[in-house]
Amino acid sequence: MEAGKKNCSYCAEVIMAEAILCKHCQSDLRQKIRIPPGWPIPSENKMGRVGKIVVGLTVAITLYLAVGFYVSNTSQDKESMQAREAAEQCREEIDSYSGPAVGKSIIAEVCRKLEDDLRKGLSRVP
Ligand SMILES: [Zn+2]
Repeated sequence: MEAGKKNCSYCAEVIMAEAILCKHCQSDLRQKIRIPPGWPIPSENKMGRVGKIVVGLTVAITLYLAVGFYVSNTSQDKESMQAREAAEQCREEIDSYSGPAVGKSIIAEVCRKLEDDLRKGLSRVP
């Protein structure tokens, strides 16, 4: 490779080492960390990520408490219906969650526990 030149990390064409924008593929070369697909957009700051985790946790805990309330306050038929609804809602929550992976896995974990508890709760009823 010629001195003062480098390969574009996106299209692999030879470009000036000082280039901040690839002349071949127009990629922004200032961004050194490449974000793997599926990650939150890079412009998101750390507070935003933490905020999303908190929101995710709040949703998960609210769902958990809401279902606990239903389990202890409804008849068996209603209870199993509510249980299915809650589990469905929980899965929808995971699907629509756009925050970092850690927040998603926390919600998924709570959903699993929730479904476990529901199954146990239902099997206790004679
Ligand atoms: Zn390029």
